[in-house]
Amino acid sequence: MQSRRDFIQKLTGSVIALQISPAVIAASCNSAVTHYDGPVLRVAIMGLGSYGTRVAEAMKDCKKAKLVGVISGTPSKIKDWQAKYNIPEKNCYNYETFDQVKNNPDIDAVYVITPNALHHHQVIRVAKAGKHVICEKPMSINAKDGQEMVDACKKANVKLLVGYRMHFEPKTLEIIRMRKAGELGKVLFFQGLCGFNIGDPTQWRLNKQLSGGGSMMDIGIYAINGARYMVGEEPIWVTAQETKTNHEKFKEGVDETIQFQFGFPGGAVASCLSTYAMNNLDRFFLDAEKGYAELYPSTGYGPIQGRTSKGELTQPHVTHQTVQMDEMAGIIFEGKQPPVPVDGEEGVKDLKIIDAIFEAAKTGKKINLKL
Ligand code: NDP
Repeated sequence: MQSRRDFIQKLTGSVIALQISPAVIAASCNSAVTHYDGPVLRVAIMGLGSYGTRVAEAMKDCKKAKLVGVISGTPSKIKDWQAKYNIPEKNCYNYETFDQVKNNPDIDAVYVITPNALHHHQVIRVAKAGKHVICEKPMSINAKDGQEMVDACKKANVKLLVGYRMHFEPKTLEIIRMRKAGELGKVLFFQGLCGFNIGDPTQWRLNKQLSGGGSMMDIGIYAINGARYMVGEEPIWVTAQETKTNHEKFKEGVDETIQFQFGFPGGAVASCLSTYAMNNLDRFFLDAEKGYAELYPSTGYGPIQGRTSKGELTQPHVTHQTVQMDEMAGIIFEGKQPPVPVDGEEGVKDLKIIDAIFEAAKTGKKINLKL
């Protein structure tokens, strides 16, 4: 299967699969479940780009979620998607009209898959329209905006979930299970390496107005989020160092490469790399007193591969977005609690860390974190 990074590199525009607990597998496209009687989450996708397309394709295999609507600024894409996914005219909106989703009883949730800096206002508008929101990572471009999104969704009494697909990935979940069960012993160290060589210099990912940054917002966030779920604690301090080799391509405020380090309350430390200028970087390594765990690749679309001191991880590959959407339907309708949260608060924690990394890289200071 093609990796996210391969895809982005080939497109020179932008564009990254897993294994799970028995419960998650049962809800996936690989499921042995042949019959599902419960409520189906009816979703409209906002932003019909590369990742929106991947989600739409994966949703074809969902049992608990269904693509029923679109929100797009490109009329020709709306027409294509209507034909491809059998979407009725009444469930089609553009960026001016989508507040009207409020009056549409056939849509339960909107999945926001647009450039990062647009998420804030779009999510708040969806919340005001009374619909649940799923928002792609990064949830927004700073913690303040992220908190406003959480508050708006609380006020509107709708759920806000972030597209953290790795939180449902079986091999990832097996390592988390082993760590929680004490099979690895006390965690001492985590290393997260996340990056790829980005192509087209004109794409929105390299435009601070739309991206909110560079590699950190896009790919470094996987190392941040991964450090938290692999170690199982929230970091209490961060240090960071930025390097830039191409000032023309990576303008002011658009990071090319940042190395960052975390300290955790239990004494573990982490060392991570986020970059838009190196390939072959998609690796998590966890060292603990009784053993180790490695995922390589760790966050691509899959198959994820991994091993621990006890041997190879053998959980099956699943389509991340299929499992994610079925599990999110369970969270929204049944109040299910995923092993690693995917709510707005989780998104804000990563944004607080990103804010601190940028500050640490700029000032050279160690920044204390309170998540
Ligand atoms: P794309 O550029 O491929 O698509 C973004 C879409 O957003 C566009 O096609 C367009 O759709 C819409 N859009 C609205 N306003 C703008 C604008 N001003 N400039 C550009 N596009 C606009 O991006 P991706 O799909 O790769 O990324 C979208 C989001 O998904 C990002 O937040 C990214 O971080 C996240 N993502 C998450 C991944 C994951 O694995 N969880 C993987 C890849 C991306 P339309 O024409 O329909 O309006």
